[in-house]
Amino acid sequence: MSESIKQLLEWATEQLYSNSCSARLDSEILLAHCLDKNRSYLLTWPEQIPTIEQQECLRELVRRRLQPQPVAYLVGHREFYSMQLITTPATLVPRPETELLVDTVLELIEGRSSVDILELGTGTGAIALALKKHAPAAQISATDISAEALAVARANAHKHQLEIEFIQSDWYRQTESRLFDLIVSNPPYIAATDPYLSQGDLPAEPRQALSSGETGLEALELIINDATGHLKPAGWIVLEHGYDQQSSVTALLQDAHFKDIRTLRDFNHLPRLTLARI
Ligand code: GLN
Repeated sequence: MSESIKQLLEWATEQLYSNSCSARLDSEILLAHCLDKNRSYLLTWPEQIPTIEQQECLRELVRRRLQPQPVAYLVGHREFYSMQLITTPATLVPRPETELLVDTVLELIEGRSSVDILELGTGTGAIALALKKHAPAAQISATDISAEALAVARANAHKHQLEIEFIQSDWYRQTESRLFDLIVSNPPYIAATDPYLSQGDLPAEPRQALSSGETGLEALELIINDATGHLKPAGWIVLEHGYDQQSSVTALLQDAHFKDIRTLRDFNHLPRLTLARI
């Protein structure tokens, strides 16, 4: 059966409607991928009839989207901070809400000629790469415990021609006794018991990138408590965490003798961002 781009998009949107809140967008990204074109091509040529292979490609991706597999894994990339990043099931899919972490760090380091930054748990490398792109003078080291994730992060650094030092490490373990001006992390912070973990696309993502234990505070606690031994005087820590973890994160930072503690973004159930200085 030959169908036009417009008809294929309508069909795919209807299929995906029940389990994706972005069914139309998902359909456009999947069809554009099968046609090896961008989304605006679809809107410009709605009457064009894709080849049988291209139509089969779309049907297969819609079937996998319904499993559900995240769109980013199906097409192999995701945009973050206007950069197209290779994204595989070995990494968390970069979230648009994490762009605030990059904005905040860039503001903190603005005007500084040399600054040493450590990103913990880099995944696709999204945060480290966006920082390096916009603050080329910064020295950025980024860790991940997963060798597979680091391979993706390295491929992204290569793709965007950005120099980052990648270190396979369980949080700070392999960073030795080096000191940094700023530590940034979007760690796993969802409680292992949170039903949210079994919703939507989350079951397809690496569990260790989403949750570090029963309370969801385990990784945050470790990162905060060990930060003091890895920060230069007056160094910053900038962390993403859950919307309901503000008081716990503030208490952890106070106990670790951080000051100037501030939490950004206090609406809806969007993740919060807390920064502090030692
Ligand atoms: N913010 C992500 C979500 O809510 C989780 C990311 C994380 O655990 N670091 O889906």
